[in-house]
Amino acid sequence: MPLSILIVGCSIAGPALAGFLQLAPFADDERPRITVVERSPAVRPQGQNVDIRGVGVPLLEKLGILEAVKASTTGEAGVQWVTADNRVWCEFGSASDSETQRHNPTSDIEILRGRMAQILYRRSLSVTDEHAVEYIFGDYLDDIQQEEGDDKVTVHFAKSGEHRTFDLVVGADGLQSTTRSMIWGRECDSSAVRPLGMYAAFFSMPRDAGQGDNEYRQSFHTHGRRMMSIRPDQQNGRSTALLTVMANEEKDPRFRIASERGATVAAQKDLIQETFEDAGWQSKRLLREMQATDDFYYSMVAQVHMPCWHKGRVVLLGDAAHCASHLSGMGTTLAMLGAYSLAGALSSHPYDVKTALTAYEEAMRPHVTKAQKLMPGVIRIFMPETSWGVWLIDTTIRFLVWTRVFVLLMRFKGADTEPDALPEYGFARPPVYKK
Ligand SMILES: Cc1cc2nc3c(=O)[nH]c(=O)nc-3n(C[C@H](O)[C@H](O)[C@H](O)COP(=O)(O)OP(=O)(O)OC[C@H]3O[C@@H](n4cnc5c(N)ncnc54)[C@H](O)[C@@H]3O)c2cc1C
Repeated sequence: MPLSILIVGCSIAGPALAGFLQLAPFADDERPRITVVERSPAVRPQGQNVDIRGVGVPLLEKLGILEAVKASTTGEAGVQWVTADNRVWCEFGSASDSETQRHNPTSDIEILRGRMAQILYRRSLSVTDEHAVEYIFGDYLDDIQQEEGDDKVTVHFAKSGEHRTFDLVVGADGLQSTTRSMIWGRECDSSAVRPLGMYAAFFSMPRDAGQGDNEYRQSFHTHGRRMMSIRPDQQNGRSTALLTVMANEEKDPRFRIASERGATVAAQKDLIQETFEDAGWQSKRLLREMQATDDFYYSMVAQVHMPCWHKGRVVLLGDAAHCASHLSGMGTTLAMLGAYSLAGALSSHPYDVKTALTAYEEAMRPHVTKAQKLMPGVIRIFMPETSWGVWLIDTTIRFLVWTRVFVLLMRFKGADTEPDALPEYGFARPPVYKK
């Protein structure tokens, strides 16, 4: 009997798995039946730049979407650090610059998250035939039941009220995964999520060349551990904005509360407004545009560390299993690599799900461990509390860039997951994706 698989979440990991499962070398009568449930009424458009690095590039090719993704990138040329009056004091190129390959903040492929999710979703419907995946939008699970040693999982859909049974449930529902909290319990869930003390607001706004918007990401940091960035998107004539702040949890828990499930966008915007009102540079413009935008997204910056990613017939994928945070630049690449590895492992052990889940985890762990290693203390150093601290870090960076020591330091950081690290499972070549 073919496996019936329920995937929870349709962002990056979820539809990537739905696509890879159709390409994996299952025998014809073993091809899994795939259902995807997404809480939102459609693929969510929110989110700004995500990076695809190293091993992520051949994975796009395996899904037949490399050209489509390359044609949809934001076209960011690199990063410029600017002063309060918009003068550039430091500049880095993109990852395709030969000297500092893959060590720059701007990666080979920068694409808006919503655009990437849309391509993956449509791809999953065109790999074989459009009925190969059943998508359920606007619903979520409020109960998951599995008996120990049982090979079935029974779930309850909150909105439709339906009970259904699957051979495998995949939680691809992100940093704040409810699949994780339902299966591992609230306590385990809260110890798995490790906040990095930083909170981020993402949105888009009209591009304004008169204010200095260009093909570079422009970043400005100021006292109070606050940073603002404006990034290009050459696809739609808009700029994307990222406002980040490091919060002192004990003194001010409001940032954490605003990131919890159930917090309203209005409350999140108010908090960001209050925090950045006196931040200088383009804060007035950014806050005005933030109030007007309808694609605002606010999130805690955190990592997820789980000792094991599966329990019985429930397995975690992508950020739900191992969020590395946007600071790693590897979340999207890891989510796709996880989808590929899980599809490969299931096709290698179609009658032994337990062995397949162990094989998936063994293949992924080393990549996750590497990506989750952030340089200790580096966030706090780059986001100083005082104006004096800002001056000190700016002067130090200027010196390191001028003496080219910075390039050496970035090399010391080590390479991203290399393309040749990709295991081969004998996947079929898909038709090339057309928009
Ligand atoms: C709206 C949004 C905006 C983002 N913006 C950025 C960004 O600008 N920069 C960046 O680096 N990273 C961003 N991220 C995170 C980034 O997408 C991930 O780090 C990475 O791509 C891994 O993706 P994922 O599919 O594992 O998880 P996610 O991208 O977090 O996707 C999880 C999906 O599951 C859905 N979901 C959640 N709970 C349930 C439930 N109970 N039932 C059904 N569906 C559920 C969510 O709506 C979402 O579609 C964003 C994520 C989201 C959801």
